Amino acid sequence: MTEMATIMDCPPPGWEPLVEELARRVSPATVIHCHEPLAKRTTLRVGGPAEVYVEPASEADLAEVVKFVAERAVDLFVLGRGSNLLVRDGGIRGVVICLAHPSFSMVEITGERMRCGAGAKLKLVAVEAKRAGLSGVEFLEGIPGSVGGALRMNAGAMGAWSFAVVESVRIMDYAGRIHERPVAEVPVEYRACPLLKNHIALGAVFKCNATTREEVAQRMNSFSVKRWDSQPAAPSAGCSFKNPATIPAGRLVQELGLKGHRVGGAMVSLEHGNFIVNDGCATAKDVLDLMTLIQARAKTERGIELHPEVEIVGVD
Ligand SMILES: Cc1cc2nc3c(=O)[nH]c(=O)nc-3n(C[C@H](O)[C@H](O)[C@H](O)COP(=O)(O)OP(=O)(O)OC[C@H]3O[C@@H](n4cnc5c(N)ncnc54)[C@H](O)[C@@H]3O)c2cc1C
Repeated sequence: MTEMATIMDCPPPGWEPLVEELARRVSPATVIHCHEPLAKRTTLRVGGPAEVYVEPASEADLAEVVKFVAERAVDLFVLGRGSNLLVRDGGIRGVVICLAHPSFSMVEITGERMRCGAGAKLKLVAVEAKRAGLSGVEFLEGIPGSVGGALRMNAGAMGAWSFAVVESVRIMDYAGRIHERPVAEVPVEYRACPLLKNHIALGAVFKCNATTREEVAQRMNSFSVKRWDSQPAAPSAGCSFKNPATIPAGRLVQELGLKGHRVGGAMVSLEHGNFIVNDGCATAKDVLDLMTLIQARAKTERGIELHPEVEIVGVD
């Protein structure tokens, strides 16, 4: 009998032959889960399951999954570390791919360059840069995402952002083909890399500057102190709204008197008005209702449209 990937749990109704076909097309090292709860895979800790959740073990397996999804016209979603996501309570239909396998998590340093897999944690990138005395990625230290998510979101902090230090990206298109793109060929925006809406990031090369470990450590520590002075430790998805041009969203929410305001288990953080925290029993609906309430108050009382920074995905 040919070896195939193990399927955890029973496939959703109608999915049996599809999931078996998928399992046969990838190597046994690829992980396939059915009805995988996504609340445990997001930092906000709310939301329903993925119909089918796959952790490909290699780029070849990932290409097979991507081709399978295209051939079968199944929905595809790429999950990083779930730190910028609000998954609705009905979960995500179709296939959710996560590059959590170690083959996507390497961080290799050559001179001033760091080649990082999309699945690598941003904290690991920052720690390895510090160890090697490389400056430029200190701002990644406190962002709880993966390299893939940071590229998609052009994540930034402390006046720096990901694509300012990216030299090139390695991506896969939805036909399973791999491309290396220099950063000059990758248009980016504030908190977005549109190319990655329909490509999967496999990794990136970050170009840093050689300095001393002590200098990097000092900068990282000062960033960390600033962050934890203003950021809640409770489960959240980071900033809920993009900053409007005229006022930071957090200050606006504070001026509206909404800090501490609750809907069910979701609450506007007392530390930072732009964070919604989960007290442990929130549903995605609680968080969404609280966001709607904040948006309505901002609009009626200050004439300001607030747009979500957190990505809202899935079905009710
Ligand atoms: C406490 C806290 C603090 C935060 N602080 C900051 C901050 O200072 N600055 C900041 O910018 N953000 C911040 N965030 C938000 C979040 O951490 C970043 O946006 C992060 O880059 C998301 O990475 P992720 O791996 O968790 O992506 P996810 O949340 O899993 O996904 C985000 C988006 O990226 C896509 N994606 C993920 N991986 C890939 C891939 N390999 N290829 C293509 N698309 C992919 C997903 O489909 C989704 O569209 C914070 C969040 C929290 C909870």
